[in-house]
Amino acid sequence: MEQLSITGQKGISLGAIASQASRATDMMTQVRSAMLSPTSRKTAPTFNLSQLASMLDIEKGPLSHRMNKGDLPSGHLNAAGTRREFTLAEARTWIREYRKERLRPTGAEAVTISIGNFKGGVGKTTTAMTLAQGLTLLGHKVLVIDTDPQGSLTTLFGKLPDAEVTEQDTILPLVLGQEDSIRYAIRPTYWDGIDLVAAAPSLFGAEFALPSRQTQEPEFEFWNVLHYGIDDVRPDYDVIVIDTPPSLSYTTINAFMASNGIVMPLPPNALDFASAAQFWSIFSDLTDELLTRRGLDKEFDFLHILLSRVDSADVTANIVRQWIQTTYAEKVLPVEIPKTAVTATASAEFGTVYDVERYDGNAKTFKRARDAYDLFVSYVETSIQSVWRKQVPSAALSPLTSSIPLRTRKSK
Ligand code: ADP
Ligand code: MG
Repeated sequence: MEQLSITGQKGISLGAIASQASRATDMMTQVRSAMLSPTSRKTAPTFNLSQLASMLDIEKGPLSHRMNKGDLPSGHLNAAGTRREFTLAEARTWIREYRKERLRPTGAEAVTISIGNFKGGVGKTTTAMTLAQGLTLLGHKVLVIDTDPQGSLTTLFGKLPDAEVTEQDTILPLVLGQEDSIRYAIRPTYWDGIDLVAAAPSLFGAEFALPSRQTQEPEFEFWNVLHYGIDDVRPDYDVIVIDTPPSLSYTTINAFMASNGIVMPLPPNALDFASAAQFWSIFSDLTDELLTRRGLDKEFDFLHILLSRVDSADVTANIVRQWIQTTYAEKVLPVEIPKTAVTATASAEFGTVYDVERYDGNAKTFKRARDAYDLFVSYVETSIQSVWRKQVPSAALSPLTSSIPLRTRKSK
């Protein structure tokens, strides 16, 4: 018998849901190829001379002068022959030369950072992507690991989790014990300086595999699979960024346990604050059971709360911001990511503020957004450098305070 629901829909069979699912998947494929045409691949932005000079924190004059030396990439003229352009890879070669003293010292290894929060929609994936991109623009080499079966971060790299990601591209074989090192899953991306371990819906299987292995293998530590799995590649990267699902799942615990630091994006509103409070108390109960009672411990090098999606029109934001400051004190980063059309627009094209080559909207709005992300990235870079200092106490890294990028500094 057909049942009518309150909205007047007929009873919906599982078969109907299946065909709706395949329509949605087809639509994603179409949208993606329309968006990324003609090549159907994402491309990274290019940079002009002024942009490169600004990234190097020097004037255009000295840049041209340095270029004459001929040992660094000289870029190429654009199609119209009117201006010189540098690819991301070329720009990064320059940046690495000019920021030598701030890069990973010999003997240090990748600093691993998880982006986590119980809730969806707080900006985790956007934070993971912008952090990775921003760090590469400071010269670092980054491995990004998507552990959310929904694969939003994977999508930002122009790959469709359903159609273009196989199990071998994900952490699943590691979780199942078929592999010991994550290396098999690492792929290059459209963004020079970022490699990706992708995610796909089949990763949901991790939530069954991990507890089941725990009951079958006496020595197994389900919370350390990712930790041990990335050990092999830590010397190959400067930073490893892990995006996590919106839950405190087995996978999320793995991400945290593999990490030196955690960044929690937190919009200043009451429900998100409450949810974050729950997150920390559940996290602490869990680690108590897993580690403390076994006589084990885990120390994080840093924990940053990032005020994200801050809506300037929201009158309650000030109150909740106060709660956040009181609760998390020095862990709250002194920067706020505004709720901005720039991020919204860029994400409609599966990108971020760093993917935007020319912003069609208000230039001030764009600068405000870009500056906020830059500042966030530079604070995290400072934390990364302090971990390297712990790893290699004798390292000659330049002073921590000098890493705030030019764009966000007061003009001299
Ligand atoms: P999560 O990973 O926590 O679910 P996302 O990073 O996917 O969060 O963000 C959720 C949605 O909010 C996305 O559509 C994203 O584009 C949008 N968003 C994230 N940060 C901002 C921002 N600062 N301003 C406007 N929209 C944002
Ligand atoms: Mg996400």
